[in-house]
Amino acid sequence: MNLYRIIYSSYGKPDLGYHDLRDIMQKSEINNQRDGITGMLCYGDFVFLQILEGDRTTISNTFNRISQDPRHHTPELIECRPIKSRIFGVWSMKTVNLSDLKSEQVKNLILKYSTSDTMKPHNMSPKQCLSLMQELAVFYDK
Ligand code: FAD
Repeated sequence: MNLYRIIYSSYGKPDLGYHDLRDIMQKSEINNQRDGITGMLCYGDFVFLQILEGDRTTISNTFNRISQDPRHHTPELIECRPIKSRIFGVWSMKTVNLSDLKSEQVKNLILKYSTSDTMKPHNMSPKQCLSLMQELAVFYDK
């Protein structure tokens, strides 16, 4: 197995609602568990940021399927690289909706890795995206 990590960002459709997010979260958990994929999905400021970890061919197929989903658009690959081990190994897909709970602490975390306190992954390096997701995972796991 070739263990890889993909990081990408995309833009949610303008009328994306709670039901869409819940559906994406439920489907991701079921499919990813089946496919041995782990990772995290963040949504805030109409932007998605997702990390997928798993077998290279499997995460490529999943990314291709996700890219065609009409609930978002303009996916941009930020990173695709081999990894020694998983970071998000316990989650088939942890999903956090930053819009729900955009506290000062979350804003400060985003600001720590970006030029502003709104999520703009296309202006961030792969390392900054990864660090932000890791800190958000800890924050939302409390
Ligand atoms: P079904 O659920 O049966 O869907 C069949 C087709 O209908 C698919 O093309 C699907 O995209 C489309 N579809 C389903 N529901 C809707 C809807 N409400 N509106 C419009 N089209 C719809 N899937 C994963 O498996 N793992 C992930 O990590 C993952 N992350 C995602 C991240 C984002 C930002 C988005 C937008 C979607 C994500 N999805 C993920 C969902 C993915 O795009 C597919 O919808 C899903 O994998 C299809 O599952 P399925 O093959 O069981 O088909």
